[in-house]
Amino acid sequence: MTEETKNIYIVRSGEAALKGQNKPYFEKMLAERIKKLLKKFEGTEVRRHEGLIFVRTDKSVPEEDVIREMKKVFGIQSISPAVSCEPDMKSIGEKAVEYMMDLIEKKGVKTFKVEAKRADKSFPVKSPDIARRIGAAVLKGCKVLSVDVHEPDVYLFVDVRPGICYIYQKKIAGFGGLPLGTNGKGLVLLSGGIDSPVATFMMAKRGMQIEAVHFHSYPYTSERARVKVEELASILAVYCSRFKMHIINMLPVQEEIVKNCPQEETTIQLRRFMMRVAERVAKNNGCDMLITGESLGQVASQTSDALVVTDASVSIPVMRPLIALDKVDIMDIARDIGTYEKSIEPYEDCCTVFLPKHPVTRPKLAKIEKSESALDVEQLIETALASEEIIDIYPA
Ligand code: ATP
Ligand code: MG
Repeated sequence: MTEETKNIYIVRSGEAALKGQNKPYFEKMLAERIKKLLKKFEGTEVRRHEGLIFVRTDKSVPEEDVIREMKKVFGIQSISPAVSCEPDMKSIGEKAVEYMMDLIEKKGVKTFKVEAKRADKSFPVKSPDIARRIGAAVLKGCKVLSVDVHEPDVYLFVDVRPGICYIYQKKIAGFGGLPLGTNGKGLVLLSGGIDSPVATFMMAKRGMQIEAVHFHSYPYTSERARVKVEELASILAVYCSRFKMHIINMLPVQEEIVKNCPQEETTIQLRRFMMRVAERVAKNNGCDMLITGESLGQVASQTSDALVVTDASVSIPVMRPLIALDKVDIMDIARDIGTYEKSIEPYEDCCTVFLPKHPVTRPKLAKIEKSESALDVEQLIETALASEEIIDIYPA
């Protein structure tokens, strides 16, 4: 069965394909996600077959558009736009010539090499012979071409399967990772900075569904600062799908900390409250863990001592996917996923309100807890939670 009216894409699922008995589950989740993102295109069909996913769209849908959407899907290792033909040597030879003619015209291709494989072991010609014979057919049909087995302009992949043969020339890399929704739900502490959006992306890439909490200190932080975070979240929703964001005012907590605790401790005290409030939000919303954009040693509140003190405030697991990354590497990922430009827009963050001049870099838990005993912790958590607003974040 060949389909002259359809564009075909072969999608490889990378790590999801290694999951043993769970493989069908991972592949099903991946196919569902692809289906969801491509449903806006005419005539889209998504089918799983023999460990691959085959996507078909109407010919009128531009290839770039389909590839752009599929590149947002976690769990895809690579994508190959392909053509198909009957699985017999004559049809394959003719199709290969037609395919290469098109590449000569559009890309000025001069050299090629055929790579053949037969998933259908009953096909009468063995792979090396398919390659040799199709190579000869292409040379005969496309006089300008020559074979270069070392550095060809293009590889011509011939993939013979039961009832159909696919021909393609490139493998476009996806993000890899695991399909969204295959690995629990995490609550990310999302600031307007560079780091936490990258942390969100990295956990979602491992299949984790995301929810977010953002803390502000209105009116010390502006309405515009909040809009910026919502816009940043929308960029993340492109990859993470629609998610909920909890928006919470920490100003009453900050005022109590500033009034009652030593000035150099205010940042670490605030961080402990952020974690506690986030822990409550997580538990109320079925999130298994917290996610932050902390990276070891990046600022005073991210030294190893500070992280120990911060962690001690909650019992829920805290994931810090950026912990061992350098800032330049984090910035590279931010650029790659499209959050960087938004992150560097200059708006105030609640962490920078009442910022101490000399924050402690080596806080000790006993001392921090002692200072904290001047506060009504439970009451402050309740006050913060009472300000909670919940909004839906849609893909940008
Ligand atoms: P980022 O670039 O993500 O803002 P940062 O390097 O500025 O991080 P901090 O301000 O110390 O570092 O924050 C560390 C982490 O705490 C952030 O990555 C984020 O997960 C969380 N966080 C900080 N501020 C907020 C906020 N206003 N709302 C929610 N989470 C926050
Ligand atoms: Mg920040």
